[in-house]
Amino acid sequence: MRAVVKDPPLVALAARCTGVVQEARRRHRTSALATAALGRALAGAALLAATLKGEESITIRVVGDGPLGGIIAEGRAGGAVRGYVENPGVELPTASPGKLDVGRGVGTGHLYVTRDMGLKEPYTGRAPLVSGEIGKDLAYYLATSEQTPSAVALGVLVEPRGRVRAAGGLLVQVLPGGEGASGLERLEANLHGLPAPSTLIEEGKTPEEIILGALSGFDVMFSPPQPVFYRCRCTRARLLEALATVDLDDAAPGEVLEARCHFCGRVYRVPVEEVRNLVRPPAAPSPP
Ligand SMILES: [Zn+2]
Repeated sequence: MRAVVKDPPLVALAARCTGVVQEARRRHRTSALATAALGRALAGAALLAATLKGEESITIRVVGDGPLGGIIAEGRAGGAVRGYVENPGVELPTASPGKLDVGRGVGTGHLYVTRDMGLKEPYTGRAPLVSGEIGKDLAYYLATSEQTPSAVALGVLVEPRGRVRAAGGLLVQVLPGGEGASGLERLEANLHGLPAPSTLIEEGKTPEEIILGALSGFDVMFSPPQPVFYRCRCTRARLLEALATVDLDDAAPGEVLEARCHFCGRVYRVPVEEVRNLVRPPAAPSPP
């Protein structure tokens, strides 16, 4: 869900991602900690993708030195998101029950955002991780690398047995010309008093209601709502492209290669001959 305010110029995005994160957990068999971390990244990707059109996509990569390893989340125009975490089984002892230490799981490093607008080369920007909690890191990235002051809240509520109870996010940005405007104290007070998006979603609030809470007192104009869903774009043809660079010198005739898609877990089985034909086209006639 996307909404704008004209004066001061603001944009607000909210997404309910409970089903998406539940699906990610099912596909990747993530621990509670990995579910929370990947879920936050997926919510962030869903938010950034809400303003895209056509074939455009954005990818968030959280690359830290913590035990979870890298986290990748991709969002596309139209609402499709997908992602994975390098070490999905990692758990960490927590000081307080029910509180998942995502920051420690991620560690220190960088957050990268790649915007593929479908025309020229994709653009990638990066910023250091400030907390490893992902929401704050994304806000810092947007403020420093994209020069857009942003408030980002990303949350996943995971039940003790690992089920996803609620997940979602809220992003509010001050657009050019809005810095220092008189209404911004009110926005800050609104955001300060707003519960976490996952709490609001658990209470049954819609993305529209979450935005109205964040922009209470402003004249809000909503865009038509947009779905968010988990969908992978992998195909056998794309996989063959990726396999074209694999060294097959040791492969026996008749051998079948198995390749697993990182994003959805689907396993493709490809006879080695099929890959050989692809990599090594018939030799060109030798010059006379
Ligand atoms: Zn896939």
